[in-house]
Amino acid sequence: MEQDNQQKHSGTIGVTTENIFPVIKKFLYSDHEIFLRELVSNAIDATQKLKTLSSFGEFKGELGDLKVTVTIDKEAGTLTISDHGIGMTADDVNKYINQIAFSGAEEFVNKFKDTANGIIGHFGLGFYSAFMVAKKVEIRSLSYQEGAQAVKWECDGSPAYSMEPIEKAERGTDIILYIDDESKEFLEQARIDSLLRKYCRFLPVPVESDGKVINSTEPTWTKKPSELTDEDYINFYHELYPGQDDPLFWIHLNVDYPFTLTGILFFPKIKNNFELTKNRIQLYCNQVFVTDSVEGVVPEFMMLLQGVIDSPDIPLNVSRSYLQSDSAVKKISGYITKKVSGRLEEIFKANRKDFEEKWDDIKVFIEYGMLTDEKFCESAMKFCLLKDTEGKYYTLDEYKTLIEPNQTDSDKQIVYLYTTDPTAQYTYINAATAKGYSVLVMDGQLDSHFVGLLEHKIEGSRFVRVDSDIIDNLIRKGDKQSADLRPDEVEMLTSVFKSQIPEVEKAEFMIQFEAIAGSDSPVTITQNEYMRRMKEMAAMQPGMNFYGMMPDSYTMVVNTKHPLIERIKSDAEKAIGAKVGECFTALSGAEAALKAVHGEVKDNKPTVEQTAKTKEFEAEMNKQREEIRKTSADYAAGQPLVRQLIDLALLGSGLLRGKDLSEFVKRSVSLL
Ligand code: ADP
Repeated sequence: MEQDNQQKHSGTIGVTTENIFPVIKKFLYSDHEIFLRELVSNAIDATQKLKTLSSFGEFKGELGDLKVTVTIDKEAGTLTISDHGIGMTADDVNKYINQIAFSGAEEFVNKFKDTANGIIGHFGLGFYSAFMVAKKVEIRSLSYQEGAQAVKWECDGSPAYSMEPIEKAERGTDIILYIDDESKEFLEQARIDSLLRKYCRFLPVPVESDGKVINSTEPTWTKKPSELTDEDYINFYHELYPGQDDPLFWIHLNVDYPFTLTGILFFPKIKNNFELTKNRIQLYCNQVFVTDSVEGVVPEFMMLLQGVIDSPDIPLNVSRSYLQSDSAVKKISGYITKKVSGRLEEIFKANRKDFEEKWDDIKVFIEYGMLTDEKFCESAMKFCLLKDTEGKYYTLDEYKTLIEPNQTDSDKQIVYLYTTDPTAQYTYINAATAKGYSVLVMDGQLDSHFVGLLEHKIEGSRFVRVDSDIIDNLIRKGDKQSADLRPDEVEMLTSVFKSQIPEVEKAEFMIQFEAIAGSDSPVTITQNEYMRRMKEMAAMQPGMNFYGMMPDSYTMVVNTKHPLIERIKSDAEKAIGAKVGECFTALSGAEAALKAVHGEVKDNKPTVEQTAKTKEFEAEMNKQREEIRKTSADYAAGQPLVRQLIDLALLGSGLLRGKDLSEFVKRSVSLL
């Protein structure tokens, strides 16, 4: 297209569809505000280009004041973005503005209509986003080239434009938007300032609005790590996130192959209540803010981190769903993961003491990373720490070496003991350490999941909470010594103990007899590891309410080798042994008779007589059981020792509360 620069003329914008503007207006409704980012970015680009030309000696004139200005004229209803960059000749305007360089616009827009943001920028529509808020746009430009003629371009949003030569003294471009009626907000200084703060805060060229420069042109992440002090990083952190505690660590990203990426990631100090606050890392493209919803761009676990990532290789202005499927973005995400784990390993190696001191605060990030990112998990196995009840830290390898000799059970499994609450589970920890075992502290928010992961990752390992069984059963070294009790004794003692267990809300108890030599606890309360884990998982996952609603089931382990239990047994034997023995014989008789009847039933169809007999024997069994239960309970009620031992066990596991606790105290005093 030949153009005569000296003459006014008009033409049609070279898009392949006639209706590109209605399309822009209609579909790009969601994020109208980004027009400002687009236009300021263009102004910055034009300025940077001029600087480059100047540095290569291709532009020999004065650079002068290069700042970009954003001006509101309320009366005229205009918003103007001015720069002193390279400017455009009429030919440039033709080439870059009039020819929208893509075909199939409509098709494309249709495809992306839900995520229309995706077409801006990515397809060179940046400038045209002005039409989302303007009824008319004017470009006034003077190119840097010697003897250039200034030009005015004007378009009212239809595909028709007009162009004419003008007088313009200063080099550069003014983009003048005649803001439309629905977009009057963009004539408010406060609105414009807040947009500039959001998108332009770190642009490399000064941007002035309302007489003030709004940006810092050399943000910390663009500098070399070697030039920066800890204080610089901390100050930058506070600039990004005012009002937060100092960060624990930071990682300065700086890569130029196979893609360009810079940035600083911070590990924030998370206060006691663990919130999964998303949208914290800010994504930039050449210092232009793109988004702070980085889901899919950075690895899942980094959603907990804060900071800035800047990459020209992350396509600007595209929708999130587009970003997530972009292969460059996937590579970037993988790189960041590698970099973060590499840096953590470095810090760990260079200053283990410091790393250990911060471990309690950073472990939530690392555990989250290990749980959600296979690759990260692999590398983190090297610096992930375990803490024992004495406050010592070990790597996974170190800890394995430490406990392997003493904590391998007869099935050749290495048993990792852990506590989720060192205070509440103190008694159990004591029992374990008395045996020379080590106990890990796993009291973090993610630890119940993390235990499962470690079990899976460390071959031949088993993780058990210290209170999930008596210690001899947790790490079983030889054959289990079974309690030496006759069936009728079991029946009697079960009733004696069961009848004395106070009501504990949402708890259920089973009695179990064990012959534990040398144990100082006559009665111990334990909670099955598997059942407890299921319940814990259920508490975190919706839809698994079934487990969540069930009461906690505990096992009350009665140590038949303990002198006090032996005494309880022999006292009970003397007092009610004969009576219980009688009942038990009758019970066994009825049971045998019932079995015999069942044996005679053919084809699962009992005769009338057989059904009657079944009922009779069952009733007899129930009667005898009830008799044993009642006899034992009546007897036990007069034996404060039984209740005392039960309460002691409940106390040791934190289950003795309220009225039962105060009764226990009174009883203890009276026993003294
Ligand atoms: P993109 O910036 O993605 O190339 P735009 O539609 O925003 O797409 O701009 C098209 C072209 O117009 C730019 O590449 C540039 O050559 C030119 N341009 C836009 N704004 C300016 C400006 N302020 N100064 C000089 N050239 C500009």
